[in-house]
Amino acid sequence: MASRHDCCRETLSANLTPNRRRVLQQLQRSERPLSAYELLELLRQDGVSWQPPTAYRALDYLVEQGLAHYLQSIQKYVVCPHSDCSHFSQLLICVQCGQVQEVAMPAALLTALQQQAEELDFQLAPQFLELKGVCGRCRGSAIDRE
Ligand SMILES: [Zn+2]
Ligand SMILES: [Zn+2]
Repeated sequence: MASRHDCCRETLSANLTPNRRRVLQQLQRSERPLSAYELLELLRQDGVSWQPPTAYRALDYLVEQGLAHYLQSIQKYVVCPHSDCSHFSQLLICVQCGQVQEVAMPAALLTALQQQAEELDFQLAPQFLELKGVCGRCRGSAIDRE
């Protein structure tokens, strides 16, 4: 079970190897989620040239530790803003600008999901839902152009 840790995020971040820390910093600096190749390109601009497996290993580790999330639907990585290591959340992905907002899963929804799972003798692991849509900023700029 990779989703529950009895550690806090500061300890985790502090104990990262230089490669992992570099990747985490790139994700933190980026305004939107990054694919592994976008990450490699940003590193290259910083004068660091890595082979893809090096980036994937670091990204996998950050995801495993809950410091970043992998968004399956767009195949990109985003830093996790939460301070605890295990949580249920929703990631709101703007299909226009690509920005992602992470918010807690509404309690009523979480309860409903957990109840239904329990009825099937199934225990949900902390996870997130990927929800696509258009953010306020993009909807605003669309109106401006009309
Ligand atoms: Zn998160
Ligand atoms: Zn947007």
